Amino acid sequence: MEKESKNKIPHCLVIPYPTQGHINPMLQFSKRLLQKGIQITLVNTISNSKTITTINLNKSFQFETISDGFDDGGLTAAENINTYIDTFRRTGSQTLDQLLHKLTTTDNPVDCVIHDAFLPWIVDVAKKFQLPVAVFLTQACSVNTINFHAFKRWLDLPLLETEIVLPGLPKLEASDFPSFLYQYGTHPGYFGLLTNQFSMIDQADWVLANTSYELEPEVVEWLMKIWPLKTIGPCVPSMFLDKRLKDDNEYGGSIFTTNSESCIKWLDTKPKGSVVYVSFGSRASLGEDQIHELACGLKNCRRYFIWIVRDSEKGKLPKDFSELSEKGLIVRWCQQLEVLQHEAVGCFVTHCGWNSTLEALSLGVPVIAIPIWTDQITNAKFVVDVWKIGVRGVADEKGIVRSETIEGCVKEMMETEKGNEMKKNAMKWKSVARNCVDESGSSDENIAEFVNELTRRRK
Ligand code: UDP
Repeated sequence: MEKESKNKIPHCLVIPYPTQGHINPMLQFSKRLLQKGIQITLVNTISNSKTITTINLNKSFQFETISDGFDDGGLTAAENINTYIDTFRRTGSQTLDQLLHKLTTTDNPVDCVIHDAFLPWIVDVAKKFQLPVAVFLTQACSVNTINFHAFKRWLDLPLLETEIVLPGLPKLEASDFPSFLYQYGTHPGYFGLLTNQFSMIDQADWVLANTSYELEPEVVEWLMKIWPLKTIGPCVPSMFLDKRLKDDNEYGGSIFTTNSESCIKWLDTKPKGSVVYVSFGSRASLGEDQIHELACGLKNCRRYFIWIVRDSEKGKLPKDFSELSEKGLIVRWCQQLEVLQHEAVGCFVTHCGWNSTLEALSLGVPVIAIPIWTDQITNAKFVVDVWKIGVRGVADEKGIVRSETIEGCVKEMMETEKGNEMKKNAMKWKSVARNCVDESGSSDENIAEFVNELTRRRK
């Protein structure tokens, strides 16, 4: 006889791909589910769980681990992305199978597996236990649509047309496409990872996307015709505050908080809108030339700046740069949301990772877009031409954004009428984004519907 569950609260197992940009939004979504009465078990890789020493998370979360096959070092210990993905699929399947087996024999077995689209093999394991699955898309719906077309081979690759029209998207130039498609063949491993996201999507009971209807209405409508799609974002922590989570670090968007440095005291001493905040996210690696151009551009602007330079990038800085640039603060890591929310910040120089883009939109900060690769290129196009909250730092023929360009962009943003317009637009999107996740907003309703469906299935 089936084991009678003592607990009527639906229980979700949440499994992100183990990098910052994937864990953060799935963590925020989990918090939202928790607020709505769902029990959450967050699954991390063994390797990642070793790097986490401070977890400012609500006690209601439970944690479990599975193995990606690289228990010391994770992705960095793998020879290449192909080896990592293959090994993760094999080892992850086995260890997830064991975990689900363990959890099914508890008083509160799992009711649903919410998995990152980067890990499509999870569907096979979940279905073995007859569990419904919700696939979580961490990228913009515009980017998902493009990658889905590539997966279906509805796009001719390499891209031959200069202008391409896809359903729900504005006319795009080939150079606006994610780099793995525009520069087809340069990174086959990543191309495979991104297109394989859709290999099991037909079996998903729900498709959850970290965006909102209002941000990408046409493309969301198109995708809703082919997938059981619910937009549930932006999954940005400060918007998901709730008294029940008061113990939490308000800005606890990250569980990689061990090496963050507070910039707030420094920002407190600066005038309103005077600081340029510069960050290229958790993974992008810039060439030494590009770092020199950035350093020079920031210095020549003669404006205050905070620049996030990770340890792995520090050696590329010009010698003595930190001493020479008395207007700047260079830190390894910060609580980005706290910084973006500070009134001293005037603009955000970003690589346009999807989380950073959503954070800029949600906090009303105009952007200087310097995308490096992958979906950042397409996000930058939307930032500039669709949401109109930023300018693009255009690279030269060598692919480098020169110091004069950076200086010009900062001036345009901080000193011109056009810059003022972009600030106004950013404030408009801030309120749109907040409304989406506020009670009865489009994303809030979708989350409520998802919770109701889970609860109905549980009974
Ligand atoms: N981030 C942060 N502190 C930093 C730099 C980045 O908290 O100093 C966070 C940022 O708020 C965002 C994430 O790291 O949530 C980066 O994700 P994104 O998708 O923008 O870029 P990725 O790191 O995936 O390239």
